[in-house]
Amino acid sequence: MERPMTTVEEKVFPGVPADLVEVAERHGRVVAAGDNKAILADFRPDRVAQLIASASLPPDLVKSELLDLRPEGDLFAARIRYTAADGSETVLRSRWIRLPEGWKVTQVRNLPATPPRMHTIGPAEDGHDTPHWEGLREGELRVPQCDDCGNWIWPKRPICPRCHSFKVSWKAVEPTGKVFSWTRTWQPFAPEFSGHLPFVTVLAELPQAGGRRLLGILLDADGVDPQVGQQVQAEFEASPDGGWPVLRWRLSKEES
Ligand SMILES: [Zn+2]
Repeated sequence: MERPMTTVEEKVFPGVPADLVEVAERHGRVVAAGDNKAILADFRPDRVAQLIASASLPPDLVKSELLDLRPEGDLFAARIRYTAADGSETVLRSRWIRLPEGWKVTQVRNLPATPPRMHTIGPAEDGHDTPHWEGLREGELRVPQCDDCGNWIWPKRPICPRCHSFKVSWKAVEPTGKVFSWTRTWQPFAPEFSGHLPFVTVLAELPQAGGRRLLGILLDADGVDPQVGQQVQAEFEASPDGGWPVLRWRLSKEES
């Protein structure tokens, strides 16, 4: 289907309805102005609670600019850049849907996609898993193994759950896995998720560690649907404040 071509301030948005360009531009202006009532009115009514906490912006915005607006499947995706009083810039991508009551935001996210860091990162209170976290800090993926029967153990237990031996040691294993399962989280279940939604969590199986499975957030997962069995590579993301690093997964390049 041929869509009309729409322009705004020398910008060309092929295939985008003119009224949506107007709505998206106005949306940027009301967000920059902090006009919460007008912002909420732009949200799809059944997703207000999700959308309001999905994206993250600095409080003192002075300017918005519609960078891009394009058809994406049944939706239209707008990238709007917001400038704060200190000059810092934040880009949000909103996806728009035409409902009977008009154009509404049905998804919104910060760009580029960055994974959330939970407040719970780091060893458990009993310290049983501390060597795993120390391993991440030293660039190693460490998983405990029973010295007596060779059983790989995850999560960490004080004794081997198979032979009940107390002799368990931490072994560095190749930091790779295969996607066993995954999910994309859209809801802001925790305050730390704001500005990082949606994100993909992968449960990766480690054949080199007895098939034990480790959870991690998948990097560069915006718009990506992993396949079960797909290879993933571990990355150890340092903490910005000197705290514990965290395990992330990244899809390996296809071997063709
Ligand atoms: Zn054992």
